[in-house]
Amino acid sequence: MGAVTETSGPRLNLLIRGGTLVGEQGVWAADLGVRDGRIAAILAPGERVAAAEVLDAAGLHLLPGLVDQHVHFNEPGRTHWEGFETGSRAAAAGGVTTVIEMPLNSHPPTTTAEALELKQTTVAGKAVVDYAFWGGLVDDNVAALPALHAGGVVGVKAFMSHAGTDDYPYATDHVLFEGLKTVARLGTVLDLHAENDSLTRGYAEQLRAAGRIDRRAYAESRPPVAELEAIERGILLARQADPNARIHFVHVSIGDGARAVERARRDGQPVSLETCPHYLTLDEDRFAEIGPDAKCAPPIRPRDVVEDLWACVLEGLVDSFASDHSPCPPEDKSRGDQDIWLAWGGVSGVQTMLPLLLDEGVHNRGLPLPRLVRMASANPARIVGLWPRKGHLGLGADADIALVDLARTWTLEPNLLQTRHPVSPFIGYRFRGAVIQTLVRGVTVFRDGEIVAPPAHGQFLRPLPGPRAPPVVGHG
Ligand SMILES: [Zn+2]
Repeated sequence: MGAVTETSGPRLNLLIRGGTLVGEQGVWAADLGVRDGRIAAILAPGERVAAAEVLDAAGLHLLPGLVDQHVHFNEPGRTHWEGFETGSRAAAAGGVTTVIEMPLNSHPPTTTAEALELKQTTVAGKAVVDYAFWGGLVDDNVAALPALHAGGVVGVKAFMSHAGTDDYPYATDHVLFEGLKTVARLGTVLDLHAENDSLTRGYAEQLRAAGRIDRRAYAESRPPVAELEAIERGILLARQADPNARIHFVHVSIGDGARAVERARRDGQPVSLETCPHYLTLDEDRFAEIGPDAKCAPPIRPRDVVEDLWACVLEGLVDSFASDHSPCPPEDKSRGDQDIWLAWGGVSGVQTMLPLLLDEGVHNRGLPLPRLVRMASANPARIVGLWPRKGHLGLGADADIALVDLARTWTLEPNLLQTRHPVSPFIGYRFRGAVIQTLVRGVTVFRDGEIVAPPAHGQFLRPLPGPRAPPVVGHG
């Protein structure tokens, strides 16, 4: 750490001077040089070097830009819910420099090579951060996976329960099993929403038949057992389908789920998981107060479950964080004010992910900064096959950087949100820790509350060739 390293070549385009670098291995004072969009020098503080532009980062920490492997921008088809333009601006404002966009909630869903092509042409030139896509595995398209893979998706996403929109049927166990064989053969990853459909559907029907329309009824309809059973089943199906079948569990909300994944990992299975800031910062009592803006699936859990999930995060059992940013127009939330079943389920969160992790994780819970970087930048990049180009402060990596002020306190007001609709369960939340500036490939896209990206700066990314580095877990 602190060694002076520099690639040879002409003078630097940019020198970020006086800041503190945060990598997976540690935190250290260094100056960082950028050439042609990549990190070209990591220098002892104050080292004399020629650069076209100098950025003063005194008092700021430099994190590798976050890689959010779970966003729904809903384009094409439901761009009025979000879209790549506003969604990627929100990402930039939150220090997220790469987003991986989900195959559902857009229409058509990304379940065929044709739909992938349509998505690529529709969103081209709209993003201010870099982006990649998940393909979709639904009830009838295992045969389409090789073409989706060839088209550049980072993996395929499947549901084990109803997905919230009728154009994205959940995968039966038969489809999952056959899909996992194909995923292993292609060397890609299955991204899995693990909730048991029979349990969630059965409880929802029972509670609604009893006249329950309150917020806690929604939480009751999706109990932890529905999530745990589906995680255990997914692990079993993957193990039986192919020992190399890679599986990633999205938005795990229970510590028992993380422990189930940990057991499989110890048995040598290539399995990983993410959790989301809202499962770590809200609880069922807060959900009952906030209502529809905090409705999501799995639901926000009771306080003891939240504390147990935190224990797993701090123990190093959880690979990664993701926002599961899933916004909608305000009326799709407010119609559930009195009857929670009527509200769209999804939390808008790409802009608040890093501030929440700094505030609740680093400041309140002692999450070490290098671990935050591993879980929010490096491991997501590994899981989707973009590491070490993304999620990494090292020579040759893309100069994707979030400059944060750990000490700055601020309150989230609706006008600060860059999303299409100013909806968030964190309006009014007082944060310690703020994103001051965001760079994508060495170019500033966000600074002091404003989007300043040049037009069409965000680029489409394919996974890097070759086998994927496994995510790093545990202490240290
Ligand atoms: Zn999602």
